[in-house]
Amino acid sequence: MKFAELSALYHQPLFDLISQSRAVHLRHWRGEEVQRCTLLSIKTGGCGEDCAYCAQSAHYSTGVEREDLLSHEVVMAVARRARSQGATRFCMGAAWRGVHDGSGKFERVLEIVRQVSSLGMEVCVTLGEIGPAEARKLKAAGVTAYNHNITK
Ligand code: SF4
Repeated sequence: MKFAELSALYHQPLFDLISQSRAVHLRHWRGEEVQRCTLLSIKTGGCGEDCAYCAQSAHYSTGVEREDLLSHEVVMAVARRARSQGATRFCMGAAWRGVHDGSGKFERVLEIVRQVSSLGMEVCVTLGEIGPAEARKLKAAGVTAYNHNITK
């Protein structure tokens, strides 16, 4: 989707947007079926960015305890438990501005994504800013959806 299309969606009256989202929902999810999804913070707090709304920012005292990027063993244990409890989607979020292709942390995230994907779960991530190279590699590793706020 192009930015202009996203912008047109974003600037709609709220109730138009709600009606459209309801129609999309009904097209894909009839009846009372729901998908179970587990969300895990794989890197928590201590973000160097100064986003005043965000509890992960190191610039504010928010009570969030800083935690480095989790090992793939820890993530896999959580993902296996989630699958055994009925989750078919596993989403991972990291508190940093973004990741870059070629960096050690990006390679670690790719490996985590591959392993979670090998469990047969849909994988989504929220890793801050990425570019086309990172997006392609994440998709190849098994990511099916990318969550990110849009700002202007
Ligand atoms: S870059 Fe993301 S994680 Fe970091 S403070 Fe801003 S919103 Fe929070």
